[in-house]
Amino acid sequence: MEKIIDVKDLRVSFHTYSGESQAVRGVSFHLNKGETLAVVGESGCGKTVTSKSIMKLLPFPIAEIKEGSKIMFEGKDITKMTKKQLQPIRGSEISMIFQDSMTSLNPTMKVGKQIVEALKIHRKLGKREAFDQAIKMLEVVGIPNPKKRAKQYPFEFSGGMRQRAMIAMALSCNPKVLIADEPTTALDVTVQAQIMELIDDLQKEYNTAVILVTHDLGVVADVADRIQVMYAGKIVERGTTEEIFYNPQHPYTWALLRSVPRLDTENKALLYSLKGTPPDLVNPPKGCPFAARCEYCMEICKEGMPEVTEISKTQEVSCWLKHPMAPKIEIPKELKIGGRA
Ligand code: SF4
Repeated sequence: MEKIIDVKDLRVSFHTYSGESQAVRGVSFHLNKGETLAVVGESGCGKTVTSKSIMKLLPFPIAEIKEGSKIMFEGKDITKMTKKQLQPIRGSEISMIFQDSMTSLNPTMKVGKQIVEALKIHRKLGKREAFDQAIKMLEVVGIPNPKKRAKQYPFEFSGGMRQRAMIAMALSCNPKVLIADEPTTALDVTVQAQIMELIDDLQKEYNTAVILVTHDLGVVADVADRIQVMYAGKIVERGTTEEIFYNPQHPYTWALLRSVPRLDTENKALLYSLKGTPPDLVNPPKGCPFAARCEYCMEICKEGMPEVTEISKTQEVSCWLKHPMAPKIEIPKELKIGGRA
């Protein structure tokens, strides 16, 4: 597999009134051409900051990408690029779909015109050609009567339709990488499924590499090739989708999986909810960041960061439970129901 993005030791801080908040703390990962990588974790775990760093869409100078961080895209380090150097890459080579389409689309500009602008700037198309292409893209993403819809404003679209329009805009320049940040959070479940299916279909058709950022593991099961789980600015587990769903190793991944509603549990069973809150990243703990919420926490967990343990060629976990001297803890039995694990 050929890498298209290679992130090495990415560290991002925000300079706030309370001090320096270390939102991303030494994250390394890669994205292969044409694959879908899901980045999963609860709010504040650093997944959005990581994905926005790739396009340098952070509020500088409050945000700072620390010295030594590397984001390689086709051999060039994005962290070192100026705004001008980034311009031909943003939107054209790497595109992004945001969570809230209402605030991401320009409310004063007709939807078609917004796509036309992107095509004129990045693909240097003429007005007529760009308009025809915009109509084609609206059709591709399943917007009925695209000619009429192109002449409407975002407020005239439903939530699902706006999200489709945003996908049309993001894919109009045929980017090599698409970053989808919680693309379905604001939508109801049926539309969620349609949008995920659409992203999956388009990804296959255009061979786009996708980074899918979400807090919901349930959303990624059918579309992701690999999953990396983030907590408190670090990657705590990564593996293929199959490994994460069938053989999860980290207690935080277990908690995320338990929080996904399942069809094979009793009707009256309460949905699991993880107690507590993530640590303060102005003063991050010296040990495992999940220690305060982990039911398996040991003394060593509070003392030092667990090392990365390789479970397979594709799966890694950072947890002291993998230490040879740690007690043997089985994957919780409810995660084995229905043939899992
Ligand atoms: Fe829990 Fe310790 Fe593993 Fe952290 S290192 S997840 S506290 S068992």
